[in-house]
Amino acid sequence: MRPSLHGYCHGAELRVATIPLVHLSFHIDKVSGKARAGRLLTPHGEIETPVFMPVGTVASVKAVPQETLEELGARIILGNTYHLYLRPGVETVRKLGGLHRFMSWPRAILTDSGGFQVFSLNELRKVTEEGVTFRSHLDGSSHFFSPESAMAAQIGLGADIIMAFDECTEYPAERARVRESMELTARWAARSKKYFEEHKNEVPWSGNGHVGTDAFVRPAEQSSAASASNSPTLAAKSAARVGHPLSGDSVQSLFGIVQGGMDRELRKESAERTIEIGFPGYAIGGLSVGEPRELTREIVESTLEHLPADKPRYLMGVGTPEEIVEYASLGVDMMDCVLPTRAARHGLLFTSEGRVSIKQARYAQDENPLDPSCSCRVCARYSRAYLRHLYASNEVLAQVLNTIHNLSFYLDTMRRVRHAISLGEESRFLSAVWSRPKP
Ligand SMILES: [Zn+2]
Repeated sequence: MRPSLHGYCHGAELRVATIPLVHLSFHIDKVSGKARAGRLLTPHGEIETPVFMPVGTVASVKAVPQETLEELGARIILGNTYHLYLRPGVETVRKLGGLHRFMSWPRAILTDSGGFQVFSLNELRKVTEEGVTFRSHLDGSSHFFSPESAMAAQIGLGADIIMAFDECTEYPAERARVRESMELTARWAARSKKYFEEHKNEVPWSGNGHVGTDAFVRPAEQSSAASASNSPTLAAKSAARVGHPLSGDSVQSLFGIVQGGMDRELRKESAERTIEIGFPGYAIGGLSVGEPRELTREIVESTLEHLPADKPRYLMGVGTPEEIVEYASLGVDMMDCVLPTRAARHGLLFTSEGRVSIKQARYAQDENPLDPSCSCRVCARYSRAYLRHLYASNEVLAQVLNTIHNLSFYLDTMRRVRHAISLGEESRFLSAVWSRPKP
């Protein structure tokens, strides 16, 4: 039986009354060398940093249900604006209350701006000062993203943290081209912020009343809502339904993105210009686009020097287990990568003993757990022989179990890193990871 509207209403009002206003706050608990252990407070919960964020491209971390992500301890996941814009469409998600409610995920979400995905389309895009025209990879239809429309899409999707619309510069590129691209990103960052500031109260879960919340109320609830003296907002009802720690006045936060290709001076200038516009957090974009790994590290390290110490720093699209540890040690607070989930679906598993390609015949009779040091439910229950059999048989369960293990390994790795930073044992966590056998 559906709980009565009064039940929702009353409970929601209590929540709103007792929970302080939440936008985004970042506290650094401990610094060890360049590494930081911190806490990021979002409208959908607190995140301990450094954090690895699993990628949920189309409002789904492939092969893993939301309850399992919660069990694994994921506090924040990613959604891709480009994919969600094409399918199911921003308006659909917005009408259903935003991403959190649509996918029943009560914790934090970050969406990218769509810039990187559009960049990946190569032949299918055209960039002008105004924005990017691109063709859908699904049906070839033509679309247009601008800083304004990318913000509108991300506000409609309703993630806790959203990203400025940027141009990801290709690699390799001439310096003049990198400068031109970096300057375009700076102008787009200013436009992104302007639009966001003017429209941030339109987020689906905002209780500020700027959105026509009645439009989101399901028909069965509308008649009751009309008779209630104080109609609950969608945000409040959503919060009541899935236990969101929402404030009635909470809004999203917009992060800026530093570009500048592989040029240290242009990265510095991009950082300065982005900081001048002013954001509550800063991302380093435009890396892992085909450059050598050593160059990625150099650029990250030099760019970090120019970012404010008191704001969260997000390195986009990185990396291997060794890399996420290394970047945390350099002072990166947030990272995301499709590697653990994508590799899992291809039978490549990360373990404390190195990489395991589970498809290999040598595991056919191996009764050992995948990783004896891993506490995940897959390693606790199944043998390498069984996982190898599932993969060889092309069973859906292979993708599920492999992904659960890989995500568990990444999230555990970050928890260990954070613990070591908290204890001031930076050298210990680095040596622990680097002493692992290489594949
Ligand atoms: Zn495991």
